[in-house]
Amino acid sequence: MCLKYHCPICGTSLGYEGLCWKCKAEKNRQDVLKWTPEQVKQKQEYLIQNIKGLEDFNEPEYTDFWNLLCYRDAITSEIQRAALEAKVFYPNEIYYHAPEDVRNALIAALLETNDSGAAGELMSCLAMQGDDKALETLLELERNPRPWRKRLYVAPSIYAQCGGWTFDKDGHRIQLNFDTCYPMVKGTAGEETPVKIGRIREDSCPHCGGKMVDIFVLNGRDERLKFLGIDGILTATCCPNCVGFLECPAYNRFTLDGGTEVFPSKLFDDEDKMECYMRLEDYKSMAENSFVLAKNPVPLFYGADCEDVNTIGGFANWVQDWEYTTCPVCGKPMKYLAQIQWDTIMDGIEGTLYIEVCSDCKVVSMHHQQT
Ligand SMILES: [Zn+2]
Ligand SMILES: [Zn+2]
Ligand SMILES: [Zn+2]
Repeated sequence: MCLKYHCPICGTSLGYEGLCWKCKAEKNRQDVLKWTPEQVKQKQEYLIQNIKGLEDFNEPEYTDFWNLLCYRDAITSEIQRAALEAKVFYPNEIYYHAPEDVRNALIAALLETNDSGAAGELMSCLAMQGDDKALETLLELERNPRPWRKRLYVAPSIYAQCGGWTFDKDGHRIQLNFDTCYPMVKGTAGEETPVKIGRIREDSCPHCGGKMVDIFVLNGRDERLKFLGIDGILTATCCPNCVGFLECPAYNRFTLDGGTEVFPSKLFDDEDKMECYMRLEDYKSMAENSFVLAKNPVPLFYGADCEDVNTIGGFANWVQDWEYTTCPVCGKPMKYLAQIQWDTIMDGIEGTLYIEVCSDCKVVSMHHQQT
């Protein structure tokens, strides 16, 4: 491919004239953030009138929905009621924290259906609604499975996870994500940040010989990050080359003074050796990225529908299905902490790294997904 053009904003070489995809996504987001209250109202009204188009991916409904949800936190109960009325159950995020009347109708529809597909969709919607009554219903269905359960791959407690929570055998709620979200933004040279992405280490990976990286280093004592309840430094360490080829997520233990102890890992392949595809310039661009923690929090779904933003807390943009890791030490579900889009720190590298944490054991997990 001939790369004779350049993105006018960031200078990336392109095979076409115009903005690169990342600058384009950023521009779209900035446009949405500038919508006036009247414009938001108009989009909401249009969505209510055309709610059926949402499940058919019609435009502008589909894009409007995600923009309203992710960047403006502006999905109202009226939109939720309209969706229910029209039997629109996709995307299930519509029903995030929906009011009681909507929740009751979702429960009634779920208990009535004999269809496994509909049951799956309705369970996801209820998971997004997420209150105690939703939990009670999913728990009841877990204990007394309906005939449709056999045709679904996973149990109701796994469906609950898409709403950022689940429950144990006794029906106790377990929260799987944090109720605050911060994005990483481009900072100026030398700007202080309590979160650093991609710090190259001295030691090498036992599988590929490439450099190990502290891919995510966070100081939980920063005022903005108090919601995490981590009273010190959290370090997530992995080999960026191998993390996508491991049989399990990569794990390490961290100490609050900045220490890290990497757990041994195994590759999918029986041979425990891997080629290193990382080039020197990849390590360099990773180490030199200018991301800093944003000054202010953003809506919880801010990073849930884009591939160009790194976020801490809130909801992830799962490339495949949501995936909450079990803590290898205590066996409890880990909590989703952050996502890093590889392409934001190394040009042309696809996929997302999801970082989860067990605060009790001071263990982090890292796993990779891509299309
Ligand atoms: Zn660009
Ligand atoms: Zn490696
Ligand atoms: Zn644990």
